[in-house]
Amino acid sequence: MRIGIYGAGQLAQMMAEAALKLGFSVCFFVDSEEDTRCVTHLGPIFQVIPSDPIKALKAAGHIDLITLEREQVNLEILKDWETQVAIFPSAKAIETTQNRIKEKRMLDELVLPTAPWISTETEADTWTKQVGFPAVLKHPTQGYDGKSQWRVNSVDEVAQITAKVDHALMLEAFVPFDFEVSIISARSTKGELIFYPPTENRHIDGILLNSIAPAPLLNQSLSDRLRHIARTVMKHLDYVGVMAIECFVTGDQILINEIAPRVHNSGHWTMHHQVCSQFEQHIRAISGLPLKPFESRFAHGLVNLLGPFDTPPNDPGSGSELVWYGKASKPRRKLGHIVQCQNTETDLIAEQEALINQLYFCNPESPFYKPLPGGHVVDERLTQTL
Ligand code: ATP
Ligand code: MG
Repeated sequence: MRIGIYGAGQLAQMMAEAALKLGFSVCFFVDSEEDTRCVTHLGPIFQVIPSDPIKALKAAGHIDLITLEREQVNLEILKDWETQVAIFPSAKAIETTQNRIKEKRMLDELVLPTAPWISTETEADTWTKQVGFPAVLKHPTQGYDGKSQWRVNSVDEVAQITAKVDHALMLEAFVPFDFEVSIISARSTKGELIFYPPTENRHIDGILLNSIAPAPLLNQSLSDRLRHIARTVMKHLDYVGVMAIECFVTGDQILINEIAPRVHNSGHWTMHHQVCSQFEQHIRAISGLPLKPFESRFAHGLVNLLGPFDTPPNDPGSGSELVWYGKASKPRRKLGHIVQCQNTETDLIAEQEALINQLYFCNPESPFYKPLPGGHVVDERLTQTL
């Protein structure tokens, strides 16, 4: 079987590696000027011209199916391709989940819980009535790692931002959540479903910093509810592949934040050799292979490597595996991650805290450096002149 992957970043890289291990071959479709250094060694690359997307398909030769590494794609390209070859997840599923407003409308129709939200195409007085302040204003299609969204405290602030864009934004109530979780699930071409245990996620400046699975603070009833949400959404969209659903937890309430119709950063802990990774699971789901249920008695986790790092940090130690994407280093950019596995949740949490302190909070080179109150920072140049 030959699989075409639309995209060339680290998620495309990890899906391709999983496909190759299963004995499939891969090729990549990329937009112009897309950085391909993560995937050049894995298969041929074809550039997509939006005015003639079929040209790239023809150049690629025989392909059994296409999958995607990101939802922010030109839908017309997918629809054209779909006339020639199967796409998983389908263009219809991407259409809904690539747009926060369409996604929230679907969740409302399915009577699944979200924070109060509204499209800014409505009258300004309904913003306060339906959503209230503080709130978060989000671009419907753009944005990742907390980009293209704004904390807002008044109708005036919303109006100032909407005046600068030519389409509606989504206004969502600010949720003072206890913690954030995601659920990674897979649905196959045959309708088979599997769920990984929900993952607790911690963000810094809107960027995922670390994850722990199973989520330590989540009780059985909330876990069951997350599975119900994932099952309902995937069945409704007739979804094929891996899907991640990000949620806020407040007390005994779950509120859905967003759906990612793809493999997801908070699922990278599944790359531990004890587990069937989300990448292998995705390839299994789209290619018709049986899915592999999750079985592990360990505590799993990941810590993201957020730039700048010119070279990968030192070997993280026993029980951990470092994954380096080979991308150019930039501040706050995801350059790799460390996959962790420990016998107990307590050990895993202690290991993560130590690592996060070393990589970020105690590292003056990091944008997330936090000098401890009363701590002394020794500046080498100053010491030399004294
Ligand atoms: P991703 O990189 O996961 O695609 P994103 O940039 O698309 O993320 P969100 O997931 O909507 O955007 O927001 C990023 C983070 O900002 C969330 O994980 C959460 O920590 C915070 N956040 C977003 N919306 C809200 C909200 N309504 N209330 C409180 N915090 C929020
Ligand atoms: Mg998110």
